[in-house]
Amino acid sequence: MSDVRIDDLPIRDELRGKSPYGAPQLDVPVRLNTNENPYPLPEPLVERIAERVREAARDLNRYPDRDAVRLRTELAKYLSDTGGFPLALENVWAANGSNEVIQQLLQTFGGPGRSAIGFEPSYSMHALIARGTGTGWISGPREEDFTIDPAAAARAIAEHKPDVVFLTTPNNPTGNAVPAGTVRALYDAAQAAKPSMVVVDEAYVEFSHGDSLLPLLEGRPHLVISRTMSKAFGAAGLRLGYLAADPAVVDAVQLVRLPYHLSAITQATALAALEHTDTLLGYVEQLKSERDRLVAELRAIGYDVVESDANFVQFGRFADAHGVWRKILDRGVLVRDNGVPGWLRVSAGTPEENDAFLDAVREVKKELE
Ligand code: PMP
Repeated sequence: MSDVRIDDLPIRDELRGKSPYGAPQLDVPVRLNTNENPYPLPEPLVERIAERVREAARDLNRYPDRDAVRLRTELAKYLSDTGGFPLALENVWAANGSNEVIQQLLQTFGGPGRSAIGFEPSYSMHALIARGTGTGWISGPREEDFTIDPAAAARAIAEHKPDVVFLTTPNNPTGNAVPAGTVRALYDAAQAAKPSMVVVDEAYVEFSHGDSLLPLLEGRPHLVISRTMSKAFGAAGLRLGYLAADPAVVDAVQLVRLPYHLSAITQATALAALEHTDTLLGYVEQLKSERDRLVAELRAIGYDVVESDANFVQFGRFADAHGVWRKILDRGVLVRDNGVPGWLRVSAGTPEENDAFLDAVREVKKELE
């Protein structure tokens, strides 16, 4: 084999010495580290996927529907039914995971000579995709309690005049939601500064105590709401993300999307999953109550916990968060060390998985006392 290393290759300077996104994929009994839905898809849905994929397979000699018209129509229907705001095909775009949606948005509205801001700690891929698309990255401020102070955030937007503003609600890894008033204020700040695009990443919104921010799309043509089927729909393996926005935004991202980016198999599978929306959202209710139980029990054990509107919980504080992560792993439970000093994150699993996690952290707490 060759002993050429990455840095021996003529790669772009900004990629030198960097690491790829890498949540550990370890084979342990309880995996609560990547905010997946712990419930496998129900058997009738598995059957329906097989049926739809069989139909699609007959046409695999042809390219898929490039505009994913049926799928986008069904996604618009789902958003209209659950989001309290009417949306149609023209408002919705879909791609391979919301990561690809975000990449297409940055290819369209960011890029060399342009910049994006996020309020950190937040979803690390926003910064990584910015780097991959040659977009400058600005780390905006969050308060000690991980909320966003609208005045401080507006000042950062006014100072840096970013082309894209990311707001993640509920936020990953902290779990807290951004109030609608803050989003409205920061949208206005972004329009006054540039004007720029405001991307609200609602990957976890189905788990929220509050409502989606979709109604804010009214009269805000520079607002984009991104969503995913990876969490609430329990279909992380499907790779299907989507956005809702003004039709002009949907037209704009088509300037950068690869032709036929969404395979016929992906489209068929996502359509089958959408037929089972009601069952899948039933699991969301179970996960919300397990999330609330995790918050209550972690507090009862004596940990600090950030209020969560997501399917995960950030807990602390630890003098050595990575050491605690390792001790929990030694007990067969994988949680996430996101590098937020003093804190760890656990995804809500099945009741049995959550019990195993709670037993592990009780033991670790005793050991450290
Ligand atoms: N946004 C946020 C806030 C996330 O946490 C994630 C997944 N961890 C994503 C987007 C990407 O999800 P996917 O590409 O699976 O849709």
